[in-house]
Amino acid sequence: MAVTDHVDLNQFMEGVKKRNPHQPEFVQAVQEVAQDIFEFMEDKVRYHEAQILRRIAEPDRIVSFRVCWEDDNHNIRVQRGWRVQNNNAIGPYKGGIRFHPSVNESVLKFLAFEQTFKNSLTGLPMGGGKGGANFNPKGKSDAEVMRFCQSFMTELYRHIGPETDVPAGDIGVGGREIGYMFGQYKRITGRWEGVLTGKALEYGGSKMRPEATGYGAVYFLRNMLKHRGEDIDGQTAVISGSGNVATHAAEKIVQMGGKVLTLSDSDGFIHDPDGIDQNKIDWVKDLKNVRRGRISEYCDHFTSATYHGNGARPWNVAADLALPCATQNELDEDDAKALVANGCKAVSEGANMPTTLAGVKVFHDAKILYAPGKAANAGGVAVSGLEMSQNSERISWNHERLGEMLTELMEGIHEKCVEYGDEGAKNGGYVDYVKGANIAGFKKVADAMLAFGVV
Ligand code: NDP
Repeated sequence: MAVTDHVDLNQFMEGVKKRNPHQPEFVQAVQEVAQDIFEFMEDKVRYHEAQILRRIAEPDRIVSFRVCWEDDNHNIRVQRGWRVQNNNAIGPYKGGIRFHPSVNESVLKFLAFEQTFKNSLTGLPMGGGKGGANFNPKGKSDAEVMRFCQSFMTELYRHIGPETDVPAGDIGVGGREIGYMFGQYKRITGRWEGVLTGKALEYGGSKMRPEATGYGAVYFLRNMLKHRGEDIDGQTAVISGSGNVATHAAEKIVQMGGKVLTLSDSDGFIHDPDGIDQNKIDWVKDLKNVRRGRISEYCDHFTSATYHGNGARPWNVAADLALPCATQNELDEDDAKALVANGCKAVSEGANMPTTLAGVKVFHDAKILYAPGKAANAGGVAVSGLEMSQNSERISWNHERLGEMLTELMEGIHEKCVEYGDEGAKNGGYVDYVKGANIAGFKKVADAMLAFGVV
């Protein structure tokens, strides 16, 4: 292979921006990874020569399609759906499906890119992908959601399969939506196979899958604190979101002796100084999953809490720990400064890229523990990987065994982050978990790609 002149980081990013105009989220995700990878590649000419990062930052393919459906008033609606298959060097594409009005190609490309590194970090054989549609399930009847899911799968089915691409849930896609999509896949293909994860237990789902992302983010947080000789017991935590990830993160914090002060949705947040205990978390789960209500309703039932509306976020509430578990870019520079000023000592991201690049810099400058989503929230996809294994073996592991596996997987990811992110004496023993996750995630994918040659 010929030795080429290497571009530097700035030239590389200029190229990424030029090739991906109007895709700020994707450019942000690549920027965050590229700065660490360029440092890592400095003395490793083989990665430069094979243009590995350039290739990972160019999805294998993006499928975009029309999704037509009929609402309850017989109006014909037209949505846009996508599947971004980013990289399958180390296993079938794997990553969730998001239904939210904010979904566009940039958001799904950033998520599929991040997913490639995250899946690699788990140590399981899974490539990176992501999909979704600009469909808003909020306020829709069950019948409308079913018709949309069926229409979405009527196109998606031809691009996925247990050995090619295995989608899962994400924002707006929970057990109900996975059920409708799996039913339609089975109906079209005539095959029962593990083509989706996040399924219900009755038809091939894995125990621990609903809990895995939120629990995993708290296990990662505990691992970081332990590395510094501290623990979750007795600490206060602010959490954003009130969906799958947020409620399970809250549950695990409470189980470990912490006190959860906040939860939120896109309209605002609730602050409960008495603590959001298991009973209250169960109430929120029912509110979100069954009654499909808003978090503001919490204050009608639990009078110790106050509601802060107009899209307010919880980061000004003083706490020891912070877990952003709602969506991307929900924690900016000012929010990060507020957390640090109020004595926050550790941040663990349940959501994908919830902190802006400027916000991350604030955490790093203050040397507080900071776990990026690609490491901290990898527990979800890890248990999805275990769901795939159970489906192909036609077996079902019990809760206890899967709990142990999740704990071990999160410990393994933490160790990899420390291995590549520990700045040693030069930075007072500070572990840069972003760098650690980026390099460890990159290396495995990059080495597999080198083995394949130029494909
Ligand atoms: P859910 O749909 O269950 O919940 C999402 C929560 O985030 C809701 O409370 C929602 O509020 C809130 N939210 C969504 N968009 C916004 C916004 N623009 N501003 C403020 N709040 C918002 O999704 P999940 O809990 O599954 O996912 C949450 C995050 O975790 C996402 O970033 C997802 O990519 C990530 N993740 C999820 C995994 C999983 O296993 N589910 C795995 C790994 C990462 P509202 O009801 O108002 O929309």
